[in-house]
Amino acid sequence: MRYEQGRDASGEILRLVIQKMAAHPASFTPWTYAVWFEHLVGINPALSDALEQYLDSGTRLDDEAIEKLYAEYVSECNLDIHKMLRQDLQKILCKLAGFTEETDRQAMGFGDNLQSYGEKLKQNLDESALGNLIGEMVEDTEHMRGSVLNLQNQLEHSKQEVEELHRELESAKGEAMIDPLTGILNRRGFEKAASRILDESAFSGKETCLLMLDIDHFKKINDTYGHLVGDKVIRAVAEMLKSNIKGQDSVARLGGEEFVVLLPETPAAGAFAVAEHIRKSIGNGKIRRIDSQESIGAVTVSIGVASLAENGDINQLLNQADKALYASKAQGRNRTTTYGS
Ligand code: GH3
Ligand code: MG
Ligand code: MG
Repeated sequence: MRYEQGRDASGEILRLVIQKMAAHPASFTPWTYAVWFEHLVGINPALSDALEQYLDSGTRLDDEAIEKLYAEYVSECNLDIHKMLRQDLQKILCKLAGFTEETDRQAMGFGDNLQSYGEKLKQNLDESALGNLIGEMVEDTEHMRGSVLNLQNQLEHSKQEVEELHRELESAKGEAMIDPLTGILNRRGFEKAASRILDESAFSGKETCLLMLDIDHFKKINDTYGHLVGDKVIRAVAEMLKSNIKGQDSVARLGGEEFVVLLPETPAAGAFAVAEHIRKSIGNGKIRRIDSQESIGAVTVSIGVASLAENGDINQLLNQADKALYASKAQGRNRTTTYGS
């Protein structure tokens, strides 16, 4: 469930939300409420970052700003999902533009030919010349008909693709794909993103790698400092991962204190280097307690790296990365292991 506050806790938040809403010009709609609620509860760090940017710049939140924040960060259909759907739609449009251009070109040629047949018919043609002309006209018309039929088929195919996208968008609205604690993809969101990326890498033939990370001795952090600090550590690790990936890479929280990073078009050696960079950045980062600002000491992670074998699937990749992660744990933690090496 996205909201877990009981009546008492949510009552306190309600009072806070009303104070905030009163200080800004946006209407008192459920969207405005949801934006402030999620920000104040702290369950949506990506939203809080964006909202704080508005506040820091002295902007007061109006309906337009709320709508934007809601659509991007609160709506279950998060930007990442939108981005994926947009990219798919873009591809379909490009394909369609190509087909229609080709049919256009042929139609123009056909038009020119018709005109020249007209000119020829004005001349006095003998029977055999007339026969030839008719033969050419039949062939040309057949050719044009084929090309129009082809376009029709392509249009039908694209229509199905768009309908499929539409269904995905609908289901994206219904299923949470974003982890509320960290704002990154959850397991379901990851599976969707991964299946797209793997389809593409199978097509391009480029290597794809997966990192699986698990925070070391996380139970001790919870036991020593409490779950709130534990949550903060999980968020800090998610932030660190986000800031260490680029472009096509995707990062997700599989559950608990376990994360994955999918690296398309990356050879195993490159993935190992990325993993080591991440591991060191996390180990060197200082995470402070919220109340006393006291540092809770180094948080470390263990990492497993796997690279996608030919014809492999995402489950195999997850499995192998998990085995490599287990080896990192067994060898003393705070290290990276590549599967099969
Ligand atoms: P290891 O180095 O072997 O990974 O040890 P560990 O203590 O990290 O591993 P273990 O799997 O024993 O403990 C994971 C703990 O993470 C147990 C669980 O209570 C805690 N946990 C899972 N999800 C959350 C969460 O969302 N927030 C917090 N604060 N703790 C969580
Ligand atoms: Mg752990
Ligand atoms: Mg674990």
